Amino acid sequence: MSRDALGEVVAELGERPYRARQLFEWLYQRRARDLDALSDLPRGLRSSLAERFSLRWPEIAERSLSFDGTRKYLFRLDGGATIESVYIPESDRRTICISTQAGCPLKCSFCLTGVAGYQRSLKTWEILGQVAAVMEDNPAAATHPDRRDEDPFPWNVVVMGMGEPLLNYEATASALRILMDPKGFALPPRKLTVSTVGILPALEKLAREDTPPNLAISLHAPDPGLRRALMPIEEKYPMADVLAAALAYPTPRGGRVTLEYVLLRGVNDTPAHARELARRLGRRRFKVNLIPLNPAPEIPFQAPRPGDVDAFAAVLVDAGVTVSVRRPRGQDILAACGQLHLKGPTPGSAVHA
Ligand code: SAH
Repeated sequence: MSRDALGEVVAELGERPYRARQLFEWLYQRRARDLDALSDLPRGLRSSLAERFSLRWPEIAERSLSFDGTRKYLFRLDGGATIESVYIPESDRRTICISTQAGCPLKCSFCLTGVAGYQRSLKTWEILGQVAAVMEDNPAAATHPDRRDEDPFPWNVVVMGMGEPLLNYEATASALRILMDPKGFALPPRKLTVSTVGILPALEKLAREDTPPNLAISLHAPDPGLRRALMPIEEKYPMADVLAAALAYPTPRGGRVTLEYVLLRGVNDTPAHARELARRLGRRRFKVNLIPLNPAPEIPFQAPRPGDVDAFAAVLVDAGVTVSVRRPRGQDILAACGQLHLKGPTPGSAVHA
């Protein structure tokens, strides 16, 4: 529930408005697990709340641990849909990758999420609950035992899991507002990144939010023809329009929008593709994140050769484009980009109940 929704509930119960603020903090800052824990609320209010609402987050059904420290979480939702979230510890930060839909309707040809089908969009609480559960499961003391301070490394949240966030705009945007609320999860907007193929009407709405998060655009091809072959959505939202909307997007602190580019061997990873991409981007303020394909048997593409990744990056750098290469994390447990899917646990992975 948003601040406004809590305000309405409190008003209906004949309580003063500050009770809504207390409730908001209990839910999203202290993340109480039980209405009984709300110790500074009158008992009467707690029991009227308990009659009408339940306080719960989605349950973690399974955890898989990668050799590189990445953890994948499987949540089983009401109605039986399953979604996955990923926890990615790094030396100086930790990142949670969350899902916004169970499956994905977009059917990009290189992404296992789309290949495995689509069930439904998630509710706000199911999106937020992934962050709450993963944070609770990875307290600072457990992940960095040598660091005694409260929160040694900042959290980042990336909306890059299953689904297309901008096809589930309302639930995603209200989750983002609570994640960024200083009295909620209190994540700075620049620590929050939404990745999208560029659903234009929703992207324009996101740009008009009071505090827009960082933006990453899934581009994956240097020209519309190749993009259409890989990503059916190009038909509806052409890359020229998506790039124009991305350039106009108000990033936190005026940072650059990221363009994600999955490298597929022999398909979009040659120096000619890189030159075409550089030409299209020109001197415009983007940064490009190259993602070597994370392969899977169901995906009809191969990972690029390491030398080709370097050569591709070098062409962009020479042309003055800012480039980074994404290191795969959690590939062994199918937790890397494009590997989350609707099936249950991965056979053979280390599963800790
Ligand atoms: N639907 C949104 C959110 C998912 S983000 C979007 O497409 O942006 C997941 C990122 O991983 C996207 O950039 C996606 O294109 C990329 N990806 C998908 N399949 C991949 C694969 N097999 N290997 C590497 N990256 C992949």
